[in-house]
Amino acid sequence: MISPGETIGILGGGQLGRMLAMAAAQLGYRCHIYAPEADSIAAEVSAAFTNADWHDREAMARFANDCAVITYEFENVPVGPLAALAPVPVLPHPRALETAQDRLAEKRFVSQLGGTPAPFAAVDSDADLAAAIRQIGSPGILKTRRDGYDGKGQWRIASLEDAAALDLPTTPLIYEGFVNFFAEFSVILCRGHDGKIAYWDSAQNVHEHGILATSTVPAQPNVLEQVPAARALAAKVADALDYVGVLTIEFFATDAGPVFNEMAPRVHNSGHWTIEGALTSQFENHVRAICGLPQGDTRLAAPAVEMRNLIGDEASDWAAILADSANHLHLYGKGEARAGRKMGHVTRMLLP
Ligand code: AMP
Repeated sequence: MISPGETIGILGGGQLGRMLAMAAAQLGYRCHIYAPEADSIAAEVSAAFTNADWHDREAMARFANDCAVITYEFENVPVGPLAALAPVPVLPHPRALETAQDRLAEKRFVSQLGGTPAPFAAVDSDADLAAAIRQIGSPGILKTRRDGYDGKGQWRIASLEDAAALDLPTTPLIYEGFVNFFAEFSVILCRGHDGKIAYWDSAQNVHEHGILATSTVPAQPNVLEQVPAARALAAKVADALDYVGVLTIEFFATDAGPVFNEMAPRVHNSGHWTIEGALTSQFENHVRAICGLPQGDTRLAAPAVEMRNLIGDEASDWAAILADSANHLHLYGKGEARAGRKMGHVTRMLLP
């Protein structure tokens, strides 16, 4: 067990790290952030900051020397350099990172466990793409296998002709059949060292331009029906990875049941509502799990909760948002409100 007062290392310096560090501080832990960018909004609320490249082994080793346990808030941390952190434990195990970093490996892994992803095929050339479209059909979505997030690195493809006109990037790609879903939802769970799993209520998620816009609990009834099957798959994923901490899996709700979209081996935007809306937040339970503490109750703190992301200059409406006393405003302290950038979120508890 890692006792309050000790230091938790966090790889990645964004808003997820910031909210993890705030939850850790509540339990009396220090946090040490490691991030390659100099202006880290997680470091602003943490005890220590190492600003160095992921491949700087010396900096990694020095950072580890200050930490009792290390976790990550960014899923594209390169896995190779993490060897320099030994013997300090990295949780969840980097195997989870490795699996989630590659959309192809992730979908194969989940299929082996009995899950149903969208039909998919690896694409490394124009010929592969044409073959994939013939086999799977169109419309579909071509995605980079690595480093995509918030809809980046994705191209919608309506037809073979559409594909032929594309100037393919040289990075490895995956083609996915377009899933006809009636809703999107996520399963967020926390698994302890003892293998015990706690789930939060599944939020129904709405994306706009590939970016999460809102998460609402409870989800509508025809989505709720799909949650048990989705949870069963999520538990298999967590068990197979001997996972410790918070794991998120995003699903499409379809007439044929839940279709796996992607997994994130970390706390997740669709779980931000848990800060006020659940008895224990995803951030606190992640900290508790990686430190070997018992988990807190994950049940709802209100009959219904809604979280809305503040994207780009929506965050400049903070005064109007605060004028409604029901709004819980979270601003991440990011300097520049670029279009598509997650600047904060607002949570509303819907009381009877
Ligand atoms: P992703 O980054 O893969 O989660 O994609 C972002 C969003 O694009 C998803 O949440 C969906 O709204 C949409 N999307 C991605 N893949 C598919 C698919 N195969 N079929 C339909 N919509 C998709």
